[in-house]
Amino acid sequence: MKTFPSRSTGLLLLALSLLGTFAVGCTRYPVTETLSLMGTEVSITVQDVDERLKGRLVYAAIDSAFVEIERIEDLCKWNELSKLNGYAGYKDYQIGSELIRLINHAYDISAKTEGAFRPDTGPLVDLWGIGTDQARIPNLLEIDYTIELMNSTTFTPLDSVNARLDPSRAKLELGAIAKGYAVDRACEVLMDLGVKAGMVWAGGDLRVFGAKPDGSPWRIAVRHPRDPEKYLRVIEIREGAVATSGDYERFSELEGGRYCHIMDPWEGAPSRASISSTVVMETCMDADAYATALFVLGPTEGTQLADYLGFPALMADEEGGKMHVVETESFKSLVSE
Ligand code: AMP
Ligand code: MG
Repeated sequence: MKTFPSRSTGLLLLALSLLGTFAVGCTRYPVTETLSLMGTEVSITVQDVDERLKGRLVYAAIDSAFVEIERIEDLCKWNELSKLNGYAGYKDYQIGSELIRLINHAYDISAKTEGAFRPDTGPLVDLWGIGTDQARIPNLLEIDYTIELMNSTTFTPLDSVNARLDPSRAKLELGAIAKGYAVDRACEVLMDLGVKAGMVWAGGDLRVFGAKPDGSPWRIAVRHPRDPEKYLRVIEIREGAVATSGDYERFSELEGGRYCHIMDPWEGAPSRASISSTVVMETCMDADAYATALFVLGPTEGTQLADYLGFPALMADEEGGKMHVVETESFKSLVSE
């Protein structure tokens, strides 16, 4: 068995070095800081600030945004969500209104994608253990049992802060939406503190906001799923979020086959429908979740759903070693070269 660590490089950023720098107070822009958070590299770039962030105060604003990302990671992984999961089938737990809202939103997306994206996929993720030392191919009985457990999972908010998860062994897993939500929150912190234009980039997910001083759009390159040195498309956007789910991000080699970390909830197994899916949406939370959902649906159904819901998507699958790319017309209109 061979296991590969997470390496989320879905989107490459091209344009920053081309922008030229400019000075506000004594700081030259753009300013970029990078930290390892949520199992990936997180980069924050500030392009323009208002008078509240004179001099080196911009670095304090960036630090506050990183702290916010750590808070979301704690909420969605290590602390509140993990406690709710631990108490499944046993008792309710005070997870707080923010997490209740996020889980409810995840269930809404689950309904809109007919269950391709599922917040209750935790037992399936654990069963296969893709990307961990415990990765293995489970038997059909285990898979059937796990699908049944997911299908009987209920999340019940009891009031604005308390919630309950049933039955015992049920497990919510927000790995496909929490990173995007953290990016959104980091952008909000930056804006609240006086950043007029900037970008937060976390592995395969990013969001940009505000106009750059020279008025040009943000240029974003989508990684080629089979060659990290190349990109599939370069797009231009002025505002919004772009997220990519790729089978190269985390995977395990088991009994001669390659299995990725994105689960097909109907098959109860790692999805083979796509090798990459990229979506452009207003918020990074939605972009993150829909990129995962579309991956599971595959390029034909995935781009149909994107058209139906009204957002741009770019998808790729592979057959007999040949890559096949499908994109919505709305995505084509964003492509700059
Ligand atoms: P992403 O890289 O955003 O596509 O998210 C993948 C992560 O989300 C996985 O590592 C799992 O933790 C979780 N996940 C896998 N399959 C699904 C699914 N079908 N719906 C929701 N979350 C999933
Ligand atoms: Mg995702």
